[in-house]
Amino acid sequence: MSDPNELLNDRQFLAVAEKTFKTRKVTPMTRGTHPDLMELYSALCKKRGITERPVFVAESAIVNAVAYFPAQAIIISSQVADHLPQQQVCAAMGHEGGHLSRRQMLRNFFRLFTAMSVPLDIAGVDAGLRKAGLLSPHSPPVSFAKFMVAMPLTGLAAILGVPYANRADERDCDVAGAELAGAEAMQGYNLAAATGNREPSILERIFGNYPSFKDRNRHLERRFKILPKGEPPLPGR
Ligand SMILES: [Zn+2]
Repeated sequence: MSDPNELLNDRQFLAVAEKTFKTRKVTPMTRGTHPDLMELYSALCKKRGITERPVFVAESAIVNAVAYFPAQAIIISSQVADHLPQQQVCAAMGHEGGHLSRRQMLRNFFRLFTAMSVPLDIAGVDAGLRKAGLLSPHSPPVSFAKFMVAMPLTGLAAILGVPYANRADERDCDVAGAELAGAEAMQGYNLAAATGNREPSILERIFGNYPSFKDRNRHLERRFKILPKGEPPLPGR
């Protein structure tokens, strides 16, 4: 990206900010606006060999952060940038940077595309068999029957599979945030982001695109072999 200020007039960028943070007041985060935070973020990126991203701050009390794919940039709220511990802010930026570097948008597109192509494949094989004379033209319309079976399966793949993959991506990016700023900082950010939100319902846990913060933090505990707070270490481990 040549000039970060160009984004501040970009309608799509501002629409993402508005959707996530309920504001269009966005400013670039610089060494002038957030000297300590920018220095820490740069130092951690350098140390871990992680690409440093342009970061923007949205004037908002919402605790959230988002990756903006077209410009490979990150937007965080001022509530995060100015009020959370800097290590946790860096964990949030590491998480969003994870979304950018792992190219998940592209992966999701292919997941959906693959799921949708299943009934077409079945119809195609059926047509091929008929053409090759392996299926009599008078045989019942197998393709239609198979299509009727494949369609709901495709729907199920789209309805369950895509959110499932999205939740896996979120946990994956928590690992990216932890690799940048430490697992405990990532957990602290997740907790701050969840505070004030109700627990997700069972339906939200099955169909939702985001895992609950408990799921996320438990995943980090397992991944980084850290103990839940307040639990004594097991003997012999
Ligand atoms: Zn995420």
